Amino acid sequence: MNTWKNWAGNQNAAPRISIDVRDTDDIVDAVTAAAQRGWRVKAAGSGHSFTGIAEPTHAHLRMHGHSGIVSIDNKTGRALVRGGTTLHDLNKALWEQGRALANLGDIDRQTITGAIATATHGTGERFGNLSTQVAAMDIVLADGALVTASPSETPELFEAAKVGLGALGVISTVTLETVPAFLLRSEQQAASLAETLEGLDETVASSDHFEFFWLPHTEVVYTKRNTRLALDEGTVGVEQSGDGLTDGELPPAAETALEALRGLVTAVPAAIPAVNQLITSLITPSVRTDWSYKVFATNRDARFVEMEYAVPREAVHAAFAELRAFVDRQGYRIPMPMEVRFTAADDVPLSTATGRATAYIAVHLLLDQDYDTMFRAVEPVLAAHDGRPHWGKIHFLSAGELAGRYPRFGDFVALRDKVDPSGRFGNPYLDRVLGTAPGAAQ
Ligand SMILES: Cc1cc2nc3c(=O)[nH]c(=O)nc-3n(C[C@H](O)[C@H](O)[C@H](O)COP(=O)(O)OP(=O)(O)OC[C@H]3O[C@@H](n4cnc5c(N)ncnc54)[C@H](O)[C@@H]3O)c2cc1C
Repeated sequence: MNTWKNWAGNQNAAPRISIDVRDTDDIVDAVTAAAQRGWRVKAAGSGHSFTGIAEPTHAHLRMHGHSGIVSIDNKTGRALVRGGTTLHDLNKALWEQGRALANLGDIDRQTITGAIATATHGTGERFGNLSTQVAAMDIVLADGALVTASPSETPELFEAAKVGLGALGVISTVTLETVPAFLLRSEQQAASLAETLEGLDETVASSDHFEFFWLPHTEVVYTKRNTRLALDEGTVGVEQSGDGLTDGELPPAAETALEALRGLVTAVPAAIPAVNQLITSLITPSVRTDWSYKVFATNRDARFVEMEYAVPREAVHAAFAELRAFVDRQGYRIPMPMEVRFTAADDVPLSTATGRATAYIAVHLLLDQDYDTMFRAVEPVLAAHDGRPHWGKIHFLSAGELAGRYPRFGDFVALRDKVDPSGRFGNPYLDRVLGTAPGAAQ
């Protein structure tokens, strides 16, 4: 039996067939064959979405074998990349050519096409998400036709497919804007929650990349501030090691403590505030400089589930305060940090940052907590601020509730209905968030 499950383990499926894609012809053949059988097709990335967005029902395309950089244009810096390339491999290959992606999220395990499908983002209010770095795509449509989507060819498809949710076609290759390789000087430390919030607007504005992690039930945050340096402006190395090099969501000692105490916090939730307090005491400052992608990407070995909402930048204070108050009122016990990040506005129809400078507030829970109940309760607090859920992170909204949150939602659905009228690329999640395609078999 073919099986598929996501990284967190909260989504799984038994597709009828799994196909290892090696090139564009494999995609065309698979989509054409699926169309003849009336099957649905789902290209899977690395399974790092917490929602069922990548769930394959019939034909499951495993993309990792279709990997690598095809070419880099030395004049424009644009890189033509195969769709199954992981960010991990892409970053390394770009670096060897003296190039880098301008901004990245917290990890690098996703494929480039999986990452852009959900508007994967990092932090930095002058920087857009990964989808804003897309210059062109080659896409296999529902009828098996291979089309180029760019500002000059099928521009409507191009704009929509930058955050396409996997609903418009299978992206075979993507052309990405890159920047000259650069260093990041990373300062990480514990700070007072109150002071961080008070100075937040100034800190975010004066930083290239700033984010903070709040340990619930404490008055302490863990801040990360990354400053961009040209290669000749800095030296790779550690200025202040804290308790060792930080390579996770929290410094190593705090991560180790959290892992060691995981059983305790699950069995005795009442212990969580004390455990979180203990963890804050293990955070010591660190400063290091390294290649950009090595600083952006962290390791997330421990499994968790996540909800993340994008709110208008100016709503971050109110949304965060209400979330804190709500958690306290409900008496929830949350053992993992809440993360707050920022990005620039963009104009991609289904990007969570479309039309507005954006702040992201993420809630992480352990898989063995009753996360479904807690996320359902927390969601209205974040949604009330004109919040938009991350497409790849747990949420419960449907097309009717999402439509009013995206000015061009209707245009996206109309395009989906035009290029994929039978819902060839649909699945239960997409049926929920976009509505079923007009000709989809019921
Ligand atoms: C530990 C962890 C850390 C994370 N950190 C961040 C973060 O910092 N910032 C952030 O924004 N998100 C983050 N995420 C969420 C993650 O980046 C997104 O969910 C992303 O979409 C996952 O990429 P993937 O390659 O695993 O794709 P999958 O989850 O496998 O698929 C996602 C979508 O992409 C589609 N897709 C894949 N390949 C193709 C293709 N070739 N053509 C068309 N569609 C395709 C799939 O069909 C599906 O619709 C994190 C997730 C985890 C588990």
